[in-house]
Amino acid sequence: MVPHQESGKPEKTCFTPTIIYARIMINNPDKTKKYRFSLWKIGILAIVTAYFLNIALHYAQWTFLDNVDLIIHEAGHFIFGIFGNELLAIAGGTLLQILMPFAFVIYFFLTGQKFSGALTMFWLGQSFLNVSVYAHDAVQRKLPLLGGDGSIHDWNYLIRHLNLLQSTDLVAGAIHNLGIAIIFMAMIGGLLFSRERKNDPGSI
Ligand SMILES: [Zn+2]
Repeated sequence: MVPHQESGKPEKTCFTPTIIYARIMINNPDKTKKYRFSLWKIGILAIVTAYFLNIALHYAQWTFLDNVDLIIHEAGHFIFGIFGNELLAIAGGTLLQILMPFAFVIYFFLTGQKFSGALTMFWLGQSFLNVSVYAHDAVQRKLPLLGGDGSIHDWNYLIRHLNLLQSTDLVAGAIHNLGIAIIFMAMIGGLLFSRERKNDPGSI
């Protein structure tokens, strides 16, 4: 940039940080707006994180969200059962209880509601933990089933169908670890998306 000249004398060019900052402000003010953490978002995130960390630590215990998962799971058997394929009908329970929270996460991110998307990821992670408990029971079949002892154990059927009976613990462990990873991603995402520009309430 050519320094401003007055009366034929070149003006001293001053590149102090203040001047540089001021020039950036004028040229591109949006990029210089400072971010700060939204206190109410941090508060909500702290409560939700505590709730889901407790679930992660005691994932085998039945909680309120397991009831929600169960309702969606049973709906999944019905919906995927429409196609008349036995494997799809049995897998449909697990599929829908994963797809439902996943769809909410995608929806929130696509509509710019990233903080809500991160919060919904906690539920997605919890749903994976719920599935891992069922998958882990594929061989022992100790869990009480909704239709009684005579009903099909989804994961016993699926593991047998996939010929993975010897690897039940490995499969259940992978599902469990994925659930834990998603919960940690939700924590990090929630923290990142708790930031908003000053004087801008941002989207939820
Ligand atoms: Zn089922």
